[in-house]
Amino acid sequence: MRTLAILCACGERFNYKIDPASVESELGERGIAPILVSHGDHFVTLYVDRNYSVRSVEKVLLATGRTETVHAPAGGGMSPPEIKEKISQLMKDIDPEKNHIAFFSRVASIFHTSDELFAAGRYTGYELWIRKRQTLLKLGAHFKLDPELVISNELKPIFDKLGKTKYLKGEKTLAIQEVISPQFFLGIAQGILDAIHAHVENRDMVIEIEHNILENTLFLRLKQK
Ligand SMILES: [Zn+2]
Repeated sequence: MRTLAILCACGERFNYKIDPASVESELGERGIAPILVSHGDHFVTLYVDRNYSVRSVEKVLLATGRTETVHAPAGGGMSPPEIKEKISQLMKDIDPEKNHIAFFSRVASIFHTSDELFAAGRYTGYELWIRKRQTLLKLGAHFKLDPELVISNELKPIFDKLGKTKYLKGEKTLAIQEVISPQFFLGIAQGILDAIHAHVENRDMVIEIEHNILENTLFLRLKQK
């Protein structure tokens, strides 16, 4: 285990333990590995170098396929396969796009830590995007994406069915209101990004989405290059 000393985007300092094996290949290939870490009600992406120094900390979700490792903090909790299994069962029982209230209340009764909620949201988001794009994917069509449109065309239609949203066009920001569990909703956004990345033709593109939570509203904003 290596301990990372983090100065979070929220201003607090904390330490985080990671298993070097989980980032080895990424470090070997690129010299820098992004690691998604939970802190309180938010998540940050750390960029770690070969010396396990934290080069930078950003409050972003990434579509690079390189954030596979959400590190379970010491003390256990549910394993990712267990969470995935529970979510796929739950999605069979209740369609989140038809009855999101019932779905969310089951989620809240099954998952408790912010890491579990994030991972659960991630599987949910992945499945919902695949469902939305099913017809296209079945045709074997290659999916091309303009990163500029990821919020309005990919994230918004899914979140529209899960709650109240508002798209602030000029700011390329999606506001999702009355969010009960920000971690779960953030997970959904990350899951959608994961699914897009897995199916998109231009895989070298990088999409970064900044997030903020204010009261019960989650803001997702496309980070401009
Ligand atoms: Zn923080």
